[in-house]
Amino acid sequence: MPKVVVVGSINMDIVAYVDRHPRVGETIFGKDVKYFPGGKGANQAVACKRLGCDTVMVGRVGRDEFGSTMLQFLRSEGIDTSGIVTLDGHATGTAFIVVNAESENCIIVVSGANRAWEGTNPVLPELSAADVVLAQFEVPNDVILQAFQEARRWGARTILNPAPARQCSEELLALTSILVVNELELSELSQMDIDTGNDDSICEAASLLTKAGVDTVIVTLGANGVRLLDRGHKSRTNARRVKAVDTTGAGDCFIGAFAAGLVANYPMLDAVKLGNVAASISVTREGAASSIPTLAEVLEVYGRNPTEAP
Ligand code: ADP
Repeated sequence: MPKVVVVGSINMDIVAYVDRHPRVGETIFGKDVKYFPGGKGANQAVACKRLGCDTVMVGRVGRDEFGSTMLQFLRSEGIDTSGIVTLDGHATGTAFIVVNAESENCIIVVSGANRAWEGTNPVLPELSAADVVLAQFEVPNDVILQAFQEARRWGARTILNPAPARQCSEELLALTSILVVNELELSELSQMDIDTGNDDSICEAASLLTKAGVDTVIVTLGANGVRLLDRGHKSRTNARRVKAVDTTGAGDCFIGAFAAGLVANYPMLDAVKLGNVAASISVTREGAASSIPTLAEVLEVYGRNPTEAP
């Protein structure tokens, strides 16, 4: 059975709903607070699994209540958690998210156990069975580097989502098959100012990254959809028109669904369309992992194969 191995973060998301974001030094009253399973790694693993793909999670949690809740949640999703280590002396990663009346969010991530891999070996036997290894920037660089080196050794494709945005080493880019970025991450990695209304500008920045050894660059643009640069061929997928209520984790939903499409042998552009449809459904619901649809739900929206979706 084809498999995705996700090497990444596991967080508890604490979401406060407000009319507007507070200014520095200001105290405001929120309207509600909710707790959601999160972390880019865990979110993307849930998206892979809900979209029908065998999924293994490799990560770290603390020996605390959020850690057990997250392990339980991932198991209840049917994700293989044998690659998750529970650490003493570190808190489970926690994200504080503030969503305003316009559904815009500000996020603070306290990494905790997600950054505490010292003395533990990230290169697990699970990687030998992977078709795709997927990583984000919420775990240490050397963990990702080691995982990608191992993935390449076993012939797996590697997908990197360099989020939150930071510079990426040439060594890591050279080990990356597919790079999935939003506009901020594209700008950070290419060191270019991007005009998101201009596909040529996006393509120029994406081309720079392919020169570093990446085969495929996928740029997600929120309500403006997705741009794909695949071995020199560019294409554009428009977003579905939906009423967005919470865009937290839209990128994670896109990436997990895209990866699931790839391991199910969808051509690259069809896997992008699968991700685009799944993410458009996720933004109509609150939360990150909890808002990710199943393959059945994606099919229900279209009543046909999502690969044929516009
Ligand atoms: P990130 O969460 O990484 O910033 P984006 O905001 O680019 O990611 O969103 C990822 C994908 O989710 C988009 O490319 C699109 O497919 C979908 N999406 C996001 N916002 C909307 C929206 N308002 N309407 C429809 N689809 C959306």
